[in-house]
Amino acid sequence: MTLLITGGTVIGPTGAAPADVLVEGEKIAAIHTPGAGPADTETMDATGKYVIPGGIDAHTHMELPFGGTFASDTFDTGTRAAAFGGTTTIIDFAVQRTGEVVRDGLAAWHAKAGGNCHVDYAFHMILGGVDDDSLKAMDQLVADEGITSFKLFMAYPGVFYSDDGQILRAMQRARDNGAMIMMHAENGIAIDVLVRQALARGETDPIHHGLTRPEALEAEATHRAIMLAEVAQDCPLYIVHLSASRALAQVAAARDAGRNVFAETCPQYLYLTLEDQLGAPGFEGAKWVCSTPLRSKHESHQRDLWQGLRTNDLAVVSTDHCPFCFKDQKELGVGDFSRIPNGIGGVEHRVDLLYQGVVDGKLSLQRWVETIATTPARMFGLYPRKGVIAPGSDADIVVYDPSGRTRISVETHHMNMDHSAYEGYEIAGKVDTVMSRGEVIVSGGAYHGRAGRGKYLPRGLSSYLV
Ligand SMILES: [Zn+2]
Ligand SMILES: [Zn+2]
Repeated sequence: MTLLITGGTVIGPTGAAPADVLVEGEKIAAIHTPGAGPADTETMDATGKYVIPGGIDAHTHMELPFGGTFASDTFDTGTRAAAFGGTTTIIDFAVQRTGEVVRDGLAAWHAKAGGNCHVDYAFHMILGGVDDDSLKAMDQLVADEGITSFKLFMAYPGVFYSDDGQILRAMQRARDNGAMIMMHAENGIAIDVLVRQALARGETDPIHHGLTRPEALEAEATHRAIMLAEVAQDCPLYIVHLSASRALAQVAAARDAGRNVFAETCPQYLYLTLEDQLGAPGFEGAKWVCSTPLRSKHESHQRDLWQGLRTNDLAVVSTDHCPFCFKDQKELGVGDFSRIPNGIGGVEHRVDLLYQGVVDGKLSLQRWVETIATTPARMFGLYPRKGVIAPGSDADIVVYDPSGRTRISVETHHMNMDHSAYEGYEIAGKVDTVMSRGEVIVSGGAYHGRAGRGKYLPRGLSSYLV
């Protein structure tokens, strides 16, 4: 099939310009000056709209086992919701928990995702137990499986936690094989002390989840990860779900020093707060229990995170999509905040929520596209197949209507959740049409895709390594 997308403004990291985009089969064939494309082909009118690369959400957790339950979106429901929101690639986290074999964890994730995804997908690997076997497995996954990034945890002792020696060994191995180390940077040992003390005082409400994970312990862990990576000959390091000003300052200082250090933030840290959401009356705040936690609105976090996105100290916006229903799932933590499953669902809303930053004057159009698509593609070895409107790239294309409106609600979203973290939010902009490898899967709010059409994407090394 050949299709010419006409009349739109194509946005990429180098700018925005009127252009017509020719799609042949699954690929982008050519970019034409307006009106100069072939005349004898089917057309899609994008007049007055933006034509952008399909979003890449580099941090999702479909069906993640956590806290005695599972994240409520399957690869089927979660990738379909992603498609509705203009995201055409996800990178999910396959999991090795402490005591498990890395390859078994990977096989389990392929079994969950295979034949079920509506959009293309790739995997990072969580290493929950760094030892000789898992270090060897890292090399194999980079060489043979297209998995070139590994997440370690400085939090969750007994589940995913690695001590500093384990982290250093994994970083040294990554320095040798070219992989990226992704870090959950919170001091989990200290946090667990604060959690026990809070519960002993009878402080059981959801807000204490945030109060027992203070910003200082994110900044400390971020600093420690950066220093350990320096000792590992500047191993490439990517801080996930960065939420706080002082953690950002650590990343900015490392980057100013020319270090191989990168970071992402998530929409929840740009829009939601400790007081307004996590501190909601009664048990309501459980909807917003996630780690790292939402931060105080009385401090400068949100302003600083938006600035970090502009300056590239924050390179990527991912969702950390890890949905749990309020009923029966979040409710596991009634009377004990430490038992509330950690996670917020948002895979459907990232492109819109970041576009609101453009409308609000906090982000340029180019930075919008860079942080949601182009940089994640480059960061995680999918570029130029994904993340850009260019000849030869996959025809993953979103036609975005800046004059449309999006209202976020549990009544209208497609994620498998019984509530929305962004209930009632109004966005000045709207996903109009979504194309995945040349196939229109969403148009005018209707769904045309199907489970199983999404392909596994083996990834190369990061484009940003030095
Ligand atoms: Zn994490
Ligand atoms: Zn996560």
